Amino acid sequence: MKVRLENLTKEFEEVTAVNKATIEFEEGKLTGLLGPSGCGKSTTLYLIAGLFRATSGSIFFDNVDVTKLMPEKRGIGLVFQNYALYPHMTAEQNIMFPLINQKVPKKEAKERAKKMAQLVHIEELLNRKPGQMSGGQQQRVAIARALVKEPRILLLDEPLSNLDARLRLEMREEIKRIQRETGVTTIFVTHDQEEAMSISDQIVIMKDGFLQQVATPREMYDDPVNQFVAKFLGNPPINLINTKITNGVINVEGLVFDVKSKDDMDVVIGIRPEAFMLDSKSPVQVDVQTYEY
Ligand code: ADP
Ligand code: MG
Repeated sequence: MKVRLENLTKEFEEVTAVNKATIEFEEGKLTGLLGPSGCGKSTTLYLIAGLFRATSGSIFFDNVDVTKLMPEKRGIGLVFQNYALYPHMTAEQNIMFPLINQKVPKKEAKERAKKMAQLVHIEELLNRKPGQMSGGQQQRVAIARALVKEPRILLLDEPLSNLDARLRLEMREEIKRIQRETGVTTIFVTHDQEEAMSISDQIVIMKDGFLQQVATPREMYDDPVNQFVAKFLGNPPINLINTKITNGVINVEGLVFDVKSKDDMDVVIGIRPEAFMLDSKSPVQVDVQTYEY
């Protein structure tokens, strides 16, 4: 299912957490919702889930306006950073919980929970309680619980932040796999550009409540709309050089670039670190001060 936000705004007393956002999340794809802490990612997610009420603007699922629809009617699966599992219940009971809530017969609920456990590769852990599982395993249970109702959209809010570095890499591949296998429209919130770049079909990048750009990871990396996006993606960061266009050329330390503009103006050019090459005949002479292996 496609999700469309139109001029969506959420104000808390002084803060406008989401400011007139118009965004389309593609059907069946994994969209990374990326931006620095406090830029409005979680607020956007909770507006889609219906946990927050929009101050103004609209939310559409396919072409149906759901802006005022109750959260439980939206068909959302939600996964939080801290897993939010019930500690006194086993993995199986946790996964079955949304179904039991919906009065699905116990036998069917058990079967569906088992299927989900197979999908997220925790079949052998169904009798354990959260305290007896690793962070990654608990997060798998949380994902199974979110998917068991067969939601129309899966929303993940920084789901990997509590995991150690290695597990984080493993789980992000797992989320990608699970998303592909189920084909569920997924929005994955993260502040980690590398995480977003590595698993997203499409990235939405925000800053201070404002949408900056929607693009594939490659497009966004190669053709950022502004300096904020250019700097937010890539590690080591892009080199930004203040210079000017004079008579249709940019001249940086003797390196001359032709540009389309005929007007003279100040410009900033961005060069990704990996785009530099050693060239003994280059007019640009540099001293190497340090290097890292
Ligand atoms: P992110 O998830 O990108 O870190 P949030 O969506 O949580 O950002 O927050 C966006 C802005 O809205 C922040 O300035 C935050 O302090 C503010 N905010 C979020 N939730 C609330 C709330 N319940 N009450 C007041 N301000 C909030
Ligand atoms: Mg957040």
